[in-house]
Amino acid sequence: MTDPLNLTPGDARDALAAWLAARGEPAYRTRQILPRLWIRPVGSWDQTTELPAALRRDLEVSFPLRRLTLTARQVSADGTEKYLWDLGDGEAIESVLIPEGKRRTLCISSQVGCALGCVFCATGRMGFRRNLTAAEIAGQVREVVLLDPALMPTNVVFMGMGEPLLNWDAVDSALTILNNSDGFGIGARHITVSTVGILPALAKLAGRPEQFRLAVSLHAPTPDQRHALMPIEKKYPLPQVMGALKQFRRRVTLEYVLIGGTNDGLEHADRLAELARPLGALVNLLPLHPGGAPDLTPSPRTQMLAFERRLKRHGVEAVLRRSRGLDISAACGQLRVELEARRRKVHSQEHAGVE
Ligand code: SF4
Repeated sequence: MTDPLNLTPGDARDALAAWLAARGEPAYRTRQILPRLWIRPVGSWDQTTELPAALRRDLEVSFPLRRLTLTARQVSADGTEKYLWDLGDGEAIESVLIPEGKRRTLCISSQVGCALGCVFCATGRMGFRRNLTAAEIAGQVREVVLLDPALMPTNVVFMGMGEPLLNWDAVDSALTILNNSDGFGIGARHITVSTVGILPALAKLAGRPEQFRLAVSLHAPTPDQRHALMPIEKKYPLPQVMGALKQFRRRVTLEYVLIGGTNDGLEHADRLAELARPLGALVNLLPLHPGGAPDLTPSPRTQMLAFERRLKRHGVEAVLRRSRGLDISAACGQLRVELEARRRKVHSQEHAGVE
């Protein structure tokens, strides 16, 4: 029994071809079956009515299609959609679809929870549960397409739960599934891996020939301040991360979440400009999502605009992002954290009732 969705398209083709040949099936069956994995996906082999019934039944046994189960779907007034997927082992992950004109960006998770404990992040507070498989990572795109083919993402960002470069092997395969023409066929420039800067895996990502985009979560312009917000600074210090980015040979985006009275001063913008300018990096300024960190306050809008202007005055390209899906808790990890809190509340109410 092989989970074909956990293989890269090339490996899936080889596995199917070998299995079909052993059954004495004609070679064209591979060309019929392979597109049903990702290009025109099916929820189960029953739905491949172009195949003989006996073959469909045997595919169910030998190449079962493992699904993610949708357990919550929230649609925001601004069109942002958030999905919570059950993984079948008591764990859950989420993805967020952000429509913008003709573009539909799906923000996907790479781990259940996260070990890195950034202070402004709801997922960080959950702690690390487990890595996702390649099938579970790319499966978030597949399930959205199965919900409605018109929602097929044009862009994918690894900015959901987890640190993708701490799950490199699965992310490596998932990138191939997303990009390959026998997979989802999403252009490499439309796929962004967002990381805090895990140096060994950053080198592996840089070594891939495709032009995948890289976003690095900076969130503070000095090592001390970054350490106060992101404990990973201790292991992979800012100067080393910046050194690695200089070797990357592709334009990078620096992510910077603006936290009121913490990292949003103009002196921070000056220091940030010193880091961004030599790289020619784009700086993405992100408002702190109000539900993401109860102890921190978002930067006031006037301050965010002043910060953006200051960067631009230094010749740095900067974009102040809107916080999307404010009404549906669309920051990473928030839906899951919210549902767990609700579950705990129900549980304690039930418990109180029993007592
Ligand atoms: S911001 Fe990213 S790396 Fe930091 S705790 Fe959250 S998920 Fe992990």
